[in-house]
Amino acid sequence: MNLSRQIRWVGFGLVAAWLAFALPARTLAQGTLFTVLTNGPWAKRINIVVFAEGYTSGQTNLFLTDATNAVNNLLAQPPFQEYKSYFNAYAIFVASAQTGADHPIAGTFKNTYFNSSFDSYGISQLLTIPPNDFDGTYANGQGKVDNLLLNLFPANDLVMMVVNDHEYGGSGGNTLITSVNLFAPEIIVHESGHTFGALTDEYTNAYAGYVPAEKPNATAITSSNSIKWKDWIPGGTLIPTPDVSSNDTRVGLFQGAQYNSTGWYRPKHNCKMKELFIPFCEVCAEQLIRSIYTQLRPIDAFAPAATNSGIYSTQAVAFSVTPLQPLTHNLAVQWFTNSVAVPGATNFNFNLPPKSLGNGSHNLKAVVSDPTALVKNDPLKLLKQTNVWNVTVSLNELSLISAQYLAGSRFRLTVTGSAPQGFVLQSSTNLLNWSPLTTNTLSGGKFDYTNSGLTNIARRFYRAVSPP
Ligand SMILES: [Zn+2]
Repeated sequence: MNLSRQIRWVGFGLVAAWLAFALPARTLAQGTLFTVLTNGPWAKRINIVVFAEGYTSGQTNLFLTDATNAVNNLLAQPPFQEYKSYFNAYAIFVASAQTGADHPIAGTFKNTYFNSSFDSYGISQLLTIPPNDFDGTYANGQGKVDNLLLNLFPANDLVMMVVNDHEYGGSGGNTLITSVNLFAPEIIVHESGHTFGALTDEYTNAYAGYVPAEKPNATAITSSNSIKWKDWIPGGTLIPTPDVSSNDTRVGLFQGAQYNSTGWYRPKHNCKMKELFIPFCEVCAEQLIRSIYTQLRPIDAFAPAATNSGIYSTQAVAFSVTPLQPLTHNLAVQWFTNSVAVPGATNFNFNLPPKSLGNGSHNLKAVVSDPTALVKNDPLKLLKQTNVWNVTVSLNELSLISAQYLAGSRFRLTVTGSAPQGFVLQSSTNLLNWSPLTTNTLSGGKFDYTNSGLTNIARRFYRAVSPP
């Protein structure tokens, strides 16, 4: 079996013009939502939703097995494997009257819920749903998908459809479509490159009518300094890069991509976007990781939840961030106070001693980033997230100043400093027994007190006491 011929057309980027048929479907049977994989609340994970196509009402369990396998297969391959915990997965079952999909060239037509069809646009492996060249009515295919999503799972991030047909085929438009062919696990991963990563095919054989464009993994630019993946190209690499076996493991600029054998270039000799059973090249893997971080930020949770707070005690205050957790490496954390990195403060938890900042307004910052070596270019800083807490420190700091005898047996003093929760001015003749004179607060940072009627006292001590 000539595998390269088998896969040649799978993943042909579906044309945006199809969306021009957009019309709402008026009625549709209610689908049933199942949970396949849970790694966190849906609001904090990338949610895959898998649709059933060509499964009859008695085949719910078969579909759930196929959907689970599809999800597991996708998340078992790099770079998804490392980030599996970032994903949830759900399945939506709708029954079709018949199993399989249409095979128009063979004259076989099935009554299925989404009216899926092989042989789209003259390509036997191109498995699509309407609107397509056989049925231009959006409401018969993608419209049903969109309505079910709206009703059952609006927070979807990656939509897949498993077609209960063993013929080899699939496509990677808004909905990633695959059959249940033996190669389905590989088809899904390739198509996810289109649907999830906006990657293009790195095929070099011609396809009439395909309009190439600059993509993360294809370029027409041959000036070394302007190649978008230049950071991956080792020094001394010839540009363009000869496609010889000694360059098979090297990232360079290889001629042939996007259905053109000349004029368009790809990053590597081979890649999942060129051939099944080959890993994604470094440039495609980097793009997929960036795509993951466009859906999801690195900080999963943080505490305290309030990002504006006052501190009135000298006791250390606990702050924390909970980053997402890839499979084999941790995200990196650095804490900053007033934009200065705190040496050694690289744990998920940080205890802030308020005295280290002093009274006033300050900011505390936790910067969480994914240090993966699989991403060299992150111009939008997708792999980094900062959480900022604004803290106002108001510690009690009281002084008694300006002590002065006045005429008429009076004595005055001034309380200054900071006492947000007020203070008690006390007096004593022996430093053992203290009596309150007044309970008050500072106004403009001070309080003037005058003690009257002080007669026959050899000495008297004063102190101001504030709540801790
Ligand atoms: Zn690639």
